[in-house]
Amino acid sequence: MSAPAGRTFDAIVIGAGPNGLVAANHLVDAGWSVLLLEEQPTVGGAVHSDTDVHPGFVHDTFSTFYPLAAASRTIQDLRLEEYGLVWRHAPAVLGHPFADGQWALQHRDREITAALMDRQHAGDGEAWLELCGTWDEIGDALITGLLTPFPPVRGGLSLLRHLPKAGGLDFVKMLLSPVVQMADTRFGGQAPGILLAGNAGHADIPLDSPGSGLMGLMMTMMGQTVGFPVPEGGAGKFAEALAARFQARGGRIETSSRVAHIDVSGGRASGVRTADGTPYEARRAVVADVVASALYGDLLDPTDVPAKVHQRMQHFRLDPGTVKVDWALDGPIPWASPPPYAPGTFHVADSRHEMNQALQQVHDGYVPASPFLLAGQMTTTDPTRSPAGTESVWAYTHVPQQTVADAGDGTIRGTWDLDDAERFADRMQDRIERLAPGFGSRIMTRRVMGPRELQARNANLVGGAINGGTAAIDQQLFFRPIPGLGRAETPIPGLFLGSASAHPGGGVHGAPGMNAARAALAHGRVDHVVSPVRDWARSVRARLG
Ligand SMILES: Cc1cc2nc3c(=O)[nH]c(=O)nc-3n(C[C@H](O)[C@H](O)[C@H](O)COP(=O)(O)OP(=O)(O)OC[C@H]3O[C@@H](n4cnc5c(N)ncnc54)[C@H](O)[C@@H]3O)c2cc1C
Repeated sequence: MSAPAGRTFDAIVIGAGPNGLVAANHLVDAGWSVLLLEEQPTVGGAVHSDTDVHPGFVHDTFSTFYPLAAASRTIQDLRLEEYGLVWRHAPAVLGHPFADGQWALQHRDREITAALMDRQHAGDGEAWLELCGTWDEIGDALITGLLTPFPPVRGGLSLLRHLPKAGGLDFVKMLLSPVVQMADTRFGGQAPGILLAGNAGHADIPLDSPGSGLMGLMMTMMGQTVGFPVPEGGAGKFAEALAARFQARGGRIETSSRVAHIDVSGGRASGVRTADGTPYEARRAVVADVVASALYGDLLDPTDVPAKVHQRMQHFRLDPGTVKVDWALDGPIPWASPPPYAPGTFHVADSRHEMNQALQQVHDGYVPASPFLLAGQMTTTDPTRSPAGTESVWAYTHVPQQTVADAGDGTIRGTWDLDDAERFADRMQDRIERLAPGFGSRIMTRRVMGPRELQARNANLVGGAINGGTAAIDQQLFFRPIPGLGRAETPIPGLFLGSASAHPGGGVHGAPGMNAARAALAHGRVDHVVSPVRDWARSVRARLG
């Protein structure tokens, strides 16, 4: 079915998450007419904020801190500050409270971080500054390499150029080593190791596995260079800036429009149909900011997908589920022992061992007994988030996609109905209560979102998976989302995967969206040359009978 003129565009982008919005911006910048279709009533995907928890409080519904965006050339080049985006920073980037009242703290100023570490273990400060110095040599090139399509040709050359100054093969070995080993070979105190390990724990890679070192180092050093910034007024302001930029350049957005089908005709993606049956035609490209399993499993006719892709997609693995809790407090978190500098992000785990145990339990299908919490003090970071003297707080942790059993007191069944999610939220809250006695008595309202609720709010968060697929090494780089499809191109010409399911995966950096848009433009240019020749050949053939 072909679409009327008002519904024909050069490109259609499915999904207005950060990646869809980045792709749409890049395509409209190239002069293409672009339609962005979003299932939810608002844009942003997992970059969204709301005021539903408590009057006067802003809570980020999903993601919160954006070091990856701050470090990403793609996001920087969009100059979102011109569309209202203002970044805010907490006094300290990251904190990890210990039961004995001490804190591992990362200040934005590396000298302060080093001095704090030295106070806990002489020599760690110098080792920290040395690690920062190594990162100064190669960090930019490494991030650029990771955020461009794989293999990173230009980025790779730049990496090779910077590698000798960063320590050559020793640096490569460090990146490939587990984060635990990376920390233990450098530091004697517990602070640097727990900060590195906690940051590695943002991905679903066990802390004693290869790959965790790279993740831990990258997140930690970004904290030390660009910080962990948040958009003033809420995460939604970031998405709004992306949307405003796109629309100011002529792009069109339709919200509350779920794409139900991708049309393929003449062997290429030719358009989409929304759930109410409305057809839209794409002259040059369809970019899908959707999870890979939905793209190949739901949106395309099975006959349009090669058998090998169906077969390989059966081995596509999601990352674990998530439970997120938001609190509105009538005062600051009553830390038993307050830190010298208030951190925006804080992690909760008694030790690296306990953190790893929780990650391992989730990996093995067990609901963690002592969940490792990633958490944020949002009013500390951005005073516009709630009235003066109060605090907007959140914490999330991971749970298995398929539960074998509860490693705790056996009360969580893993069905993640309301009851399960609330009980598990109690377990999470208890962890903070032990470090901040009286936390519970400061709560005015609490909101709990388990895997089901997260998915209902964003179809890409399947079973509460936040990264569009596991970050395990066998599903990264050219194996993402499946071997043989490691680039934005799909087996269907004109269709590009631009979500976190594509390399380089989850996080708000815009790279999958940018990679998909670039691939669409490159193919569009070739098509521009080839199509007239193809049409001419067809007409000649027709004339010759
Ligand atoms: C709880 C949570 C905390 C996180 N914390 C952080 C953090 O602090 N920092 C960070 O960098 N990253 C964080 N992340 C990860 C980050 O938010 C994601 O990796 C990122 O949003 C992925 O972007 P995306 O554009 O690929 O997909 P999404 O942001 O998931 O957006 C996909 C969009 O597509 C829409 N969609 C899906 N299917 C269809 C369809 N058929 N038709 C129309 N629209 C459709 C969805 O409604 C959604 O709007 C977090 C994620 C979660 C869930």
